[in-house]
Amino acid sequence: ATAEEDHATATAAAAPADNEPSVKVVVRVRPTVSRPVDGKDLWFVRKTAPDAVAVGDRSFAVDGVLDDRASQADAFDLVGLPLIENALAGFNTSLVCYGQSGTGKTHTMWGPLGAMVDSGSDHADRGVVPRVFQNLFSRIQRTQESSPEKHTSYQCRCSFLEVHNEQINDLLEPSQRDLQIRENAGNGIHVENLTDEYVSTVEDINQILMKGLSNRKVGTTSMNLKSSRSHVIFTCIIEAWSKGSSNGFSSSRTSRITFVDLAGPENDDLDGAAKNRTKEERHLKKSLSRLGKLVNILSETPESQKDDLPYEQSRLTHVLKDTLGGNSRVTFLCSISSEHRCRSGTLSTLRFGERAKLLPNKAVINEISEDDVNGLSDQIRQLKDELIRTK
Ligand code: ADP
Ligand code: MG
Repeated sequence: ATAEEDHATATAAAAPADNEPSVKVVVRVRPTVSRPVDGKDLWFVRKTAPDAVAVGDRSFAVDGVLDDRASQADAFDLVGLPLIENALAGFNTSLVCYGQSGTGKTHTMWGPLGAMVDSGSDHADRGVVPRVFQNLFSRIQRTQESSPEKHTSYQCRCSFLEVHNEQINDLLEPSQRDLQIRENAGNGIHVENLTDEYVSTVEDINQILMKGLSNRKVGTTSMNLKSSRSHVIFTCIIEAWSKGSSNGFSSSRTSRITFVDLAGPENDDLDGAAKNRTKEERHLKKSLSRLGKLVNILSETPESQKDDLPYEQSRLTHVLKDTLGGNSRVTFLCSISSEHRCRSGTLSTLRFGERAKLLPNKAVINEISEDDVNGLSDQIRQLKDELIRTK
């Protein structure tokens, strides 16, 4: 059995992870590509404790560190498992990979496309997302097999989008471009006309991941050579219905899992060399700086002054409204390199993590009980009566 299956001994209806922090920041240090001859090319990045990383003479407190020897399975254990617990408990959860270009965000999130094929030889390279769904689906299956009397049924549906040049494009239906964001009180943020696909097996998920990732702005063949120039967001909505003993329905829980693979700025962007910037680069830089600004404001502003925040100034922050300060438990995976030439990017990534840690997220269990439904039905009836009277 794989690590994911071994971990799946707990039932799907796991105990709510109540003492979990709403925001976690984890650092992953990527292995160096070219071994430096005399060590001059290496900068000092050290894991000084399980929850601290030091770069140069600066130390950062975080919630976890994956050093350059950490495997993809280690990454899943640290960030994937808690995410599954939270999602099954009814919380919205997000994983956001942030960091300079080439530091391993895409690698951590998805792994190589070839590794997603279940029997592939580079299975060990599979990223967090395929591992999460393998674990999730085997838990759901176990719960249904082990306690059929509880009658919990699950339904999962996925969508996949890309934010490129301030446009939201559907990665599952590439003809659908420049989609609009809608916001409503009940469901929060919603992208209009975005394709939703129902999934129930690991094969379904892998197929969707491969389809979506090969539609992103950088093709599969160049993905490992040239980094992507768009932000990619994969969302899965899990609905769980529990049937009561008497009259059928007793409660329903809905949780949304959001995986965000951000495009990173290139080295010279961070060093301020503003030459030859393409439209694509300008949009990218702008969306990242708006993300940074919003995180700054949210981490500094006291609760009472949080009306009218600049979410809508960029598609990225708008579509991530729940993840950034809202109803979601979120993990930021800050990916860094220990190479000397990356040092300003490394520092700015860690500073981003430090501020992101202060985001005021408040996640609630998204549950509707039989009583809630009955209450709402009563309310609807009353409103209808009133409407008829006033006509
Ligand atoms: P990013 O998405 O941050 O721009 P990538 O994930 O595309 O970076 O990584 C750049 C290259 O480095 C890819 O070829 C990737 O496979 C490799 N890489 C990144 N992290 C690791 C790692 N932890 N182990 C092995 N290879 C890695
Ligand atoms: Mg990438």
